[in-house]
Order: sequence, then structure tokens, then C-alpha cells
Amino acid sequence: MLSKVVIANRGEIALRILRACRELGVKTVAVHSEADRDLKHVRLADEAVCIGPAPSDQSYLNVPALISAAEVTNAVGIHPGYGFLSENADFAERVEDSGFVFIGPKAESIRIMGDKVAAIKAMKEAGVPCVPGSDGPLGDNTETNQKIARDIGYPIIIKASGGGGGRGMRVVHSEGSLLNSIALTKTEAGSFFGNDVVYMEKYLETPRHIEIQILSDGQGNAIHLGERDCSMQRRNQKVVEEAPAPGITPKQRKKIGQRCVDACVKMNYRGAGTFEFLFQNGEFYFIEMNTRVQVEHPVTEMITGVDIIKEQLYIASGEKLRYKQSDIEIRGHAIECRINAEDAKTFMPSPGKIERYHPPGGPGIRVDTHIYGGYTVPPHYDSMIGKLIAYGNDRNIAIARMLGALDEINIKGIKTNIDLHKDILSDSAFQAGGTNIHYLEKKLGI
Ligand code: ADP
Repeated sequence: MLSKVVIANRGEIALRILRACRELGVKTVAVHSEADRDLKHVRLADEAVCIGPAPSDQSYLNVPALISAAEVTNAVGIHPGYGFLSENADFAERVEDSGFVFIGPKAESIRIMGDKVAAIKAMKEAGVPCVPGSDGPLGDNTETNQKIARDIGYPIIIKASGGGGGRGMRVVHSEGSLLNSIALTKTEAGSFFGNDVVYMEKYLETPRHIEIQILSDGQGNAIHLGERDCSMQRRNQKVVEEAPAPGITPKQRKKIGQRCVDACVKMNYRGAGTFEFLFQNGEFYFIEMNTRVQVEHPVTEMITGVDIIKEQLYIASGEKLRYKQSDIEIRGHAIECRINAEDAKTFMPSPGKIERYHPPGGPGIRVDTHIYGGYTVPPHYDSMIGKLIAYGNDRNIAIARMLGALDEINIKGIKTNIDLHKDILSDSAFQAGGTNIHYLEKKLGI
């Protein structure tokens, strides 16, 4: 096992990684910005290093500062968490070239998955079902592009190969606006992502977002931990996630899960990862792979009993996967609500001092958060301040427990989106299960 790990992140995920390290007897180094001295994990870590001023580009994205922190503390590995540098292939390479273990995939896998055209090509070759599309970048030939679109059938979507975070996409409903849309998306992609390659896909109108969690050791062994449904989204941001996905049969799970496992083995993928799919009319369509741990990993942990962060640490230490597929059993149901420091109606961020905090509790309730009474949420970073996770033997129990926990939790001093979660969890369509990715925005009237 790695003897000492730098946690190159902040907030709840940094604390989550610290807890996994402690359980395994791994020493921890917290790195933090000047605005983050009071983070909970900074106080709990074996060592702490300030890596720069508040703005992320001078601290959490500051590669030389992170590598120096690992050097001066004699750390062995670096865990990137999610966001920040977690999917930056150059960072992964720098970490390994400097003699440290990057707790994640090899740079080459991150690079392929960060380029959507390359990712789709790799997935097709591995037998993972993809959205019908242009099979590669769009060229400059007008007739060819029109023919590709006609063959796919409108509506179609033009996507930037280097896109991310829901940016660099444009839906086209008819041939009249096709060429203009391709040109606009290309220009935007060039300036946002420094890569003007675009491609075309069928636009699915009422899909659900369903994703498969995998673990792969890079030594020929891979398993899947079932799926999560993350269809409750606003502006491409997930708000509520759950596992398993309502209505997915064991047979469907096994089939799509096996495709992902086969792809991991074929790519010699190392680490935890998620295959994201759109799901419509009973079919899965691959959209992207995330090569890191995800915010919503706890719901999978609750229904499988597998600690995904601990497994990342084992894999990074060079151990063979400790589970076989037949060891994985899905039991019960788990739901996660992302708690944000923001107005529940206007979604305006609401940083500031938390005057009072009472966590919820009781059977099946898990709270992953770094906040405490007296903590000040800084204005510089993402507004997510924690995650509330409810587990039950079935979905109804999980919903009832979540509603209870949302009522019990008490955060005073800043605004939060807890009322929005109460609305969603009490919504009859959510309670029935299986709403699509547009449901929340329609409900909110946007
Ligand atoms: P990003 O890397 O920016 O998150 P994705 O490829 O994951 O890009 O797409 C983000 C979101 O855009 C999806 O969750 C979905 O809502 C929408 N989207 C992407 N491709 C399609 C498609 N072919 N049909 C319908 N919606 C799509």
C-alpha cells in the first residue's frame, strides 16, 4: 500500500479521500489554498501544505506547487479527486514522470477519453453501443455533411470533440441551419477548447442519463458495480442521483455492464471509471467516459458495499482487483442529494459563514460533507457543500428516509438548495421513477 498520499483537492471529496486513507493506514498530506486553511480535512491530515492564493489557477490547478508539495513531504502518490486536475492527462504524466503514483488511469487513457471522437472510436472497437453519428470528425464538404445528417435523421447534435461541462454543443432541427451550426460550433470549440474538431450525432429527445461504474486494475481484471441514474439535472449539472436505476432489469444491467468491463480489459484501463450513457426506448448509447471518481459514487457504495476510493488506492498500489464480478451483489436502493450553497429558487451562489449546522441521522443516512458550525464557505469555488445519501431496502424506504433527513438537516447562515430537494423528492413523477433528463428544467419552468 502507498505509504503517503497528497490529496490534490478540497471540500467534501478531500475529506472522503482522507477517511479512506486513514482506514488503510496511509498517511495524508492536505494541500490547500490561502482561502481554505479552515477546511476540515486540513486539520485532520498528517501534514498540510499551503499551495497558493485563493484562485484555483494559482492553487488547485498549480501543477508545480502540487508536485513540490509531494516532494517536500516525501509522499508516494497523488489523489486528484474529481474536477480540478483529475482529468488532465498532462498532469497525470507530470506526476508519474516526477516519480509519484497518479491515483487514476494512465495519462494515455485520460487523453483518449478527453477527446470525444477518439473515445467513441475506442468504444465502438470495444463493442460499446454508441449514438448513431458521423463516425469521426466533420470535414468541410457541404454535400457530405448534409448527407451524413440526412442519413442519421434530424434532429441531430453537433458536438466539439474537445468539449466538456455541457459546452460546445448545438442541436440542429433541419437542413436549413446545418451548415451555419457546424461553422458556429467549430469556431466556439476552437476558442473554448483550443480544438476545433466537431462531429455529429443523432439528437435523442427524451433520454435518461444512466452510467456504469467500473473498477479495473490494468492487469487484465475488471468488474462493474452496476448503474446509477443521474437524470435529475439542471443545465447539465446533476442534482439528484440514485442506484440502481428504476426499471433497469438485471439482464439489461448484466449486458451493458459486461460491455463496459470488456472495454476496460481491451483498453488495459487502470483505476475507477464511469461509462456515461443516454438511455432511450430500452437502448443504451455511450456519450463519454469519466476517468476519475465521481461526485455520485456513494450511491454505488451503499448498494454494493464496495468502497470505491479504497479500491482506487489498492489499484494504484499495484494490487490485483480484490473482487470478482460474482462477488458483487446489488442490495437495496440509495439516493443522493447534492447540497449546494445557493438560493433554492434563483440558484444564485450563497457563500458565507455557517452559523449553525445540525446533521441529520438515523438508519440508512450518510452525510459526506466538510462543513461544520462556524465554517465559512469561500466564494472562490464550486457551490457544492456536501452530499446527503439515503439508503433503504427498497426505493420507497430510501425516499422516505431522504425526506426525513432533508427535514432534519439544519444549516443556518447561508442559503441552500434543501427546499429544491424536498420538492424533487415529493414529486409524483420522481417517486414513480424513470424521469428523463429534461424533467427538472420543465418542472422549474426553464
Ligand atoms: P460534456 O462532456 O460536456 O458533459 P456529454 O457528451 O457528456 O458532454 O453531453 C452532455 C449532455 O448533453 C448530456 O448529458 C445530454 O444531456 C446532452 N447530450 C449530449 N449528446 C446528446 C445526444 N446525442 N442527444 C441528446 N442529448 C445529448
